[in-house]
Amino acid sequence: MPNKIKEEIERLKNERGAIILAHSYQPGVIQDIADYVGDSLELSRIAARESAELVIFCGVRFMAETAKLLSPESTVVLAAPDADCSLAACMSGADLREMKKKYPEATSVMYVNSTIDLKAETWACCTSANSIEVVEAAPSDEVIFGPDRNLGTWVAANTDKKIHIWPGGCHAHSGADIRDLREKKAEWPDAEVLVHPESPSVFLWEADKVLGTGGMIRHIEQSTSSRFIIGTEEGMIYRLETLFPDKQFVAAGKILCPDMALTTLELVLKALESNDSGIEIPAELAERAGAAVRRMTEIGR
Ligand code: SF4
Repeated sequence: MPNKIKEEIERLKNERGAIILAHSYQPGVIQDIADYVGDSLELSRIAARESAELVIFCGVRFMAETAKLLSPESTVVLAAPDADCSLAACMSGADLREMKKKYPEATSVMYVNSTIDLKAETWACCTSANSIEVVEAAPSDEVIFGPDRNLGTWVAANTDKKIHIWPGGCHAHSGADIRDLREKKAEWPDAEVLVHPESPSVFLWEADKVLGTGGMIRHIEQSTSSRFIIGTEEGMIYRLETLFPDKQFVAAGKILCPDMALTTLELVLKALESNDSGIEIPAELAERAGAAVRRMTEIGR
């Protein structure tokens, strides 16, 4: 049965001039049928470059919205329509407006894992990879950073600017237990420990490298190590095993995103069969949020 669905997905994809984009945290079966697998920014850039008529996005809502901002001519359909992000949901544009009143001298920098209305209020967005560079580029010595407190704490530790952090977090990464990481380190003492900056701060201090998912891949490509302990969502392990079959990977702890797990082959097929008009963003919000996202793409990686 899954093979039949895969054939039908392939047929419809070609018929409709579609591309399938999958985030690195997606289930393995979805990564396997995708045209491109990557982090949210890489995928948005691919959507913009390919200008496909139809983009089926396998990930969560803010990612599909970011792809739509950078690729307004394409129809962008989120394969699992209920897939949201607990991190993006924890701060709104109104919350940022309140913080701006409290810190009028500060520029705001928001992680790309955020809603459109929050993006529309911010000076620039950032990824986990370029968060420090974007904060350094902000035209003030004070910065409001959100919605992720762990990434904000990491940024604050790596800049001389004063950072006002919104206390939000991703449920999947925040629940990680440091005892699991210590156990893995004892089992694999030779392994390099790579940790995503959304993880609790105690994970970051025990890591060899703090990297976003794209940064992990680039680091492993160049590393002479053969074993790695990976501190991020477990879907990433499948991605790394596919890319580097000669190296070994183990998860640093139980980090599972329930929303990423919502995508199924059946939903991808349904998205290809439907005439869904996809993600729609009101023009005024799209203009302001798009400016913040484009600024992010212009500063570093
Ligand atoms: S892992 Fe966390 S930040 Fe990523 S999509 Fe899931 S809830 Fe959002």
